[in-house]
Amino acid sequence: MTPGIIFLCLVGLCIIGFVIWRVFQKRQIEALRKTAITNDQRAILLRYWPLYKKLPLYLKPRLEGIMTHFLNDVRFVGAKEFQITEKVRILIAAQAALLIVNKSNRWYDTLQTVIVYPAAFKSKIKEHGGALVTEREVGRSGESWKDGPVVLSWEDSAHGALNPNDGRNVVYHEFAHQLDQQTGAVDGAPLLDRGHNAAKWGKVMQVEFDQLKDDLSAGRETLIDPYGATAPAEFFAVITEIFFEKPEQLKSRHPTIYQQFKTYYKLDPVRWMG
Ligand SMILES: [Zn+2]
Repeated sequence: MTPGIIFLCLVGLCIIGFVIWRVFQKRQIEALRKTAITNDQRAILLRYWPLYKKLPLYLKPRLEGIMTHFLNDVRFVGAKEFQITEKVRILIAAQAALLIVNKSNRWYDTLQTVIVYPAAFKSKIKEHGGALVTEREVGRSGESWKDGPVVLSWEDSAHGALNPNDGRNVVYHEFAHQLDQQTGAVDGAPLLDRGHNAAKWGKVMQVEFDQLKDDLSAGRETLIDPYGATAPAEFFAVITEIFFEKPEQLKSRHPTIYQQFKTYYKLDPVRWMG
């Protein structure tokens, strides 16, 4: 055999190996997605995540399958000597899974690690003032790093799970950022599915974002947390929290946003209320 033929054979073997690996990986994911959580794990959901009881029956096996996939793929790391327990893993996995429960073509592709602090933590941010770049510490309940980990305060994550209607949920917030980044930019314009009009999405989000800023500067009361006015990416994450936690108010006060999020998440949480 000539060196050229040997090279072609090696390339062919590599391609065949890659295809076999991909098929194996796909089958493994399919198997995980069909695996329900255990009774003990379900008992944690029933006790500490009241929304679980309200979810439509048809969503529960799907949610549990995504949780199994998540728990298999994502590593949990405790910061500041925080102990990662089964309760921590289950409640974070369940809330992360809810966002993609009806989006079969979406996964947290680049997420490998969830870092959990016992409570709010300090994070350094850079501020640019002309040629001067300064650094200061801010308190955080969560962070989502682009192509990197999600960082969560357990105190806030547990509170968010246990209080499903207060409009605040750091796990939904940070995992919404993870979905947002799938276009390559974290800008409040996530990947939309076929048939979802991007121009309409962009227009609705811009109009409502500007309206929130106007309402805040005029001192008007808003349903949407003022933090949503700091950037389009935060607007998307904050609306995600309200979409799942105060859907009736969001639908009645911001019907066009509700409609866009209903199309995006392929879910209608208003129906779960009551
Ligand atoms: Zn955020």
